[in-house]
Amino acid sequence: MSGTGFAPLRGGCLCGKVRFEITAPAHDVYHCHCSICRKLQGALYPSYAVVAREAFRLLAGKGEMATFDSSPGTHRHFCRSCGSHVWEEVERRPQEIWFSAGVLDDGADPGGRAGTERHIFWESRTGWYEPGDNLPRLTRFGEDASS
Ligand SMILES: [Zn+2]
Ligand SMILES: [Zn+2]
Repeated sequence: MSGTGFAPLRGGCLCGKVRFEITAPAHDVYHCHCSICRKLQGALYPSYAVVAREAFRLLAGKGEMATFDSSPGTHRHFCRSCGSHVWEEVERRPQEIWFSAGVLDDGADPGGRAGTERHIFWESRTGWYEPGDNLPRLTRFGEDASS
């Protein structure tokens, strides 16, 4: 336990073979509209949460994972049995784990959303569905534009 009062959250793939927990709230949450994520997840815009690597613990399923590199240096980890995309590792951000926010159990809020939640790659959205929220809508990751 980190002493921050954060109760660890658990998540996993659809079939249950892959299980993990996070021991700190996410420090970054984003909804990605890029064409790669759309194909990869089969969703109009999958949502991701980012935690420090040491706050992500794989509880089960290490041998159940398959990896696909969606672009150089971006390693996407899937359950081999059910296909859930559970998390990704990005070589240029080695201290972080980016996980699919929707795989937390019971739709849990990954926390840490204030000030970081945003739409990214907004210019790549489908065009036939627009989210109705007031979150920032950024080009690419918004790392340069957001602050
Ligand atoms: Zn599975
Ligand atoms: Zn994306």
